[in-house]
Amino acid sequence: MHQPPIPEIESADPEIADLITDEARRQFEKIRLIPSENYVSLAVLEAAGTVLTNKYSEGYPGRRYYEGQQFIDQIETIAMDRAKALFGVDHANVQPYSGSPANLAVYLAFAQPGDTIMGMSLPMGGHLTHGWPVSATGKWFRAVQYGVRRDTGRVDLDEVRDLALRERPKVIFCGGTAIPRTIDFPAFASIAAEAGAILVADIAHIAGLIAGGAHPSPAGHAPVITTTTHKTLRGPRGAMIMSTAEHASALDRAVFPGLQGGPHNHTTAAIAVALREAAQPEFRDYARQVVANGKALAGALLARGYDLVSGGTDNHLILVDLTSKGIGGKPAAKALDRAGIEVNYNTVPFDTRKPFDPSGIRIGTPAITTRGLREEHMAPIAAWIDEAIAAAIKEDEPAIERIAADVREFLAAFPMPGWSPQP
Ligand SMILES: *Cc1c(COP(=O)(O)O)cnc(C)c1O
Repeated sequence: MHQPPIPEIESADPEIADLITDEARRQFEKIRLIPSENYVSLAVLEAAGTVLTNKYSEGYPGRRYYEGQQFIDQIETIAMDRAKALFGVDHANVQPYSGSPANLAVYLAFAQPGDTIMGMSLPMGGHLTHGWPVSATGKWFRAVQYGVRRDTGRVDLDEVRDLALRERPKVIFCGGTAIPRTIDFPAFASIAAEAGAILVADIAHIAGLIAGGAHPSPAGHAPVITTTTHKTLRGPRGAMIMSTAEHASALDRAVFPGLQGGPHNHTTAAIAVALREAAQPEFRDYARQVVANGKALAGALLARGYDLVSGGTDNHLILVDLTSKGIGGKPAAKALDRAGIEVNYNTVPFDTRKPFDPSGIRIGTPAITTRGLREEHMAPIAAWIDEAIAAAIKEDEPAIERIAADVREFLAAFPMPGWSPQP
């Protein structure tokens, strides 16, 4: 059953209602290990499904281009205040539609087309919007990119410094989508200061860990911080840009009118609700447990002979290099999905295979931790992963189906917010 229930969709549009229910069941029955995903609370779900979606609010609280903002202004102001308090920053803009537009707004605020910008390359763990060639950020700017060290699998800070001093980028992005280790914000800050660049900490993946005290904060080191709200932060799909007072108006102008029109007010309310949840003591327990589960799962995979990029994890994310197992990331991810374990295939640093058929899989613990899984559940999950990969290599489909059935039975004891199999 859906909570909140969806009787109107069921009667008005049964085709879509059925597909929503299928997706809910899929989320319930699978061990969801995609590190950028989560399960939001009922309160966040409710906020995102309200009549706030009916309202246009171009502008900012107190300075709108449409009338009727008596309540929307209050909601957005509360969301901004909660973000500022939670992350210890002077300014927060909660309007970006998602993480990619948030990063585009940062470029719009600080760089001109053709300027040099710097970020981590995508195959090394960076995000598309950090200057990868197929992205607008790689087409419209002169992107220089850093990676990780071959011997350690960790960000090569010597390379970052050399590149920054030689190329003098306007902005330097730190953070990424496949970085299993703690980001050294003070080190990036001193490099950016030396190079005369603006440091942007893109904390999309780790915002919830930072809010919960399980990863160091970039506040006080990076004058600009971007984040999605829907990954470890466990809010609705959306994003925020946070900054020092100095950069506030440039960033606000870049989001609106520079890049966007009206903000998604239902999302803003859901962000506010999620930020309140993230400020509670239980969220600190959650963030700590995400990392504890990450370390336990990494340990269990290492014990089964898996190669992990950088040898393990400090956070919620594990990058597995399957080269020594003799299977590509894509067939492994597809077999795991059939076995009820959802991961994504991913390039590993210095990958010798093609990007659409890379050597790795990327796994993470935010969603399963929300379901209530703890360290003791990580060894069984590693065992299922290992068995499913072995079965994929042997093309043993019945074994994969047996694992999926075991996974379904196991997860039935861990409720998810928003849907339960009971009618
Ligand atoms: C997920 C992510 C983004 C982009 O977020 P979208 O909401 O998918 O546009 C940007 N940067 C990093 C580091 C991310 O992990």
